[in-house]
Amino acid sequence: MGRNIGYGGTAPRVPGSVVIDLGRRMNRILNIDAENASCLVEPGVSYFALYEEIQRRKLPLWIDTPDVGGGSVLGNAIDRGVGYTPYGDHFANHCGMEIVLPNGELLRTGMGALPGKDGADNPTWQSFQPAYGPYVDGIFSQSNFGIVVRMGIWLMPEIGHQSYVITFPREEDFPEIVEIIRPLAQQRILGNIPQLRHVIQELATTARPKSDFYSGPGPIPREAIREHAAKLPLGDVSWVFYGTQYGDAASIAKQLDVIRTAFSKIPGAKMLLPEDLPADHYLHSRVSVCSGVPVLRELDWLNWVPNAAHLFFSPIVPTRGRDAKIVHDIVVRLHAKHGLDLIPTLCVAGREMHYIVNIVYDRSSLDEKRRAAACMREMIAEAAAEGYGEYRTHILFADMVAGTYNWGQNALMRFNETIKDALDPNGILAPGRNGIWPKRFRGKGWEILGTEVEDALEGKGIGPKPRA
Ligand SMILES: Cc1cc2nc3c(=O)[nH]c(=O)nc-3n(C[C@H](O)[C@H](O)[C@H](O)COP(=O)(O)OP(=O)(O)OC[C@H]3O[C@@H](n4cnc5c(N)ncnc54)[C@H](O)[C@@H]3O)c2cc1C
Repeated sequence: MGRNIGYGGTAPRVPGSVVIDLGRRMNRILNIDAENASCLVEPGVSYFALYEEIQRRKLPLWIDTPDVGGGSVLGNAIDRGVGYTPYGDHFANHCGMEIVLPNGELLRTGMGALPGKDGADNPTWQSFQPAYGPYVDGIFSQSNFGIVVRMGIWLMPEIGHQSYVITFPREEDFPEIVEIIRPLAQQRILGNIPQLRHVIQELATTARPKSDFYSGPGPIPREAIREHAAKLPLGDVSWVFYGTQYGDAASIAKQLDVIRTAFSKIPGAKMLLPEDLPADHYLHSRVSVCSGVPVLRELDWLNWVPNAAHLFFSPIVPTRGRDAKIVHDIVVRLHAKHGLDLIPTLCVAGREMHYIVNIVYDRSSLDEKRRAAACMREMIAEAAAEGYGEYRTHILFADMVAGTYNWGQNALMRFNETIKDALDPNGILAPGRNGIWPKRFRGKGWEILGTEVEDALEGKGIGPKPRA
């Protein structure tokens, strides 16, 4: 489908590549198994299409959608994307694949490798993930080792749900909020992967442009955010926690009590339910996303600047206040240095969080693009120096991020290259994807490193170049 917005879209890394559009004709929902609560889809099936088919068949099943529902169910899972029901880890909730290898051979993984009776698909292909022998599915995610043409996805049986928001007035309570989330998530009291957002998002998700709130130069000042947030439904707060609980009404009521009590340690923390907020408040769109209904509301924050484009910086950080603060301080400092608005959204699990920064910039301004790219580059380097690495990145930063995973003299990349060369000896499939270059490209300076990222914005240095 190619909706990987913020991570490079459909752009191939090597100029002159042929882009294979799997969304146009490979868009069949091959099976929905209501008893097994699973489906088998081709790459062109969008979240909306799968949702609508389940509704059409009146099945009591949920899909799990990312914040924007226009993308490919398979594409998002293969890029290890996230959603917000209890099935939010999309790759962890896939079950079985069919893959076209670079030599044209067709491979089925998991139980799919064992033919079913009379040539049918194996009846447990979408039931048991690893099957027998090495579990190979992982090497086809975020890689260039094959084209996945079918994927099994688990669906969640529908259940009662209650979304809520908790607001925190003080900026400096951020590490303590993270400390409180950790045990709640580890004990599985939190129903889904909650989002912790900075209050700037309350302004941005109104879909109003930044110029409505601040018309001066540079990033919107904290005082301007405060002044305008005070007029919005959540008021003059600093951090906003969006969560959802699942179960029957009595169980949800108990869960909310535990959560309310835990966060009451933060001065001024306040829990609100959808009925406490106006119908156009963003919490109502979270109710949809967190109960498996795809929406597009999240795109609203791209109205922030004219001609908006965005980059995601997505390091994995331990769910610990002190680590969260280290990354937050890096991000705050570098955004200020490069004159960019800081728009963080943290997806917080029990042991790690995806600390996601949305850099929104005017793509018609080369200066803004260069500042956004420089900020990304410096955040990647500084975070890596502290031991924090990105879980996913824009194609422009693939070499840089891959280079940070360099333990044991780049043992991981050498392993990936060995697999790449064995499966794709001619190096035809997505060269450079996730920093993995086939043999015929290596040592020729194809990588984009350091300040070459900014030059690449003007189309310079994307191809091979001499290196000292
Ligand atoms: C406002 C906003 C909010 C977002 N929120 C989220 C979010 O909550 N969670 C999230 O995960 N993302 C989010 N994103 C990022 C992105 O838009 C989504 O992840 C989107 O679902 C990805 O696009 P897609 O599903 O069409 O995947 P694609 O673009 O189709 O696929 C992603 C990548 O996977 C590889 N790939 C795709 N298909 C295959 C295949 N058949 N075989 C092998 N490799 C393949 C390709 O390299 C491709 O670039 C957000 C983006 C925006 C703009």
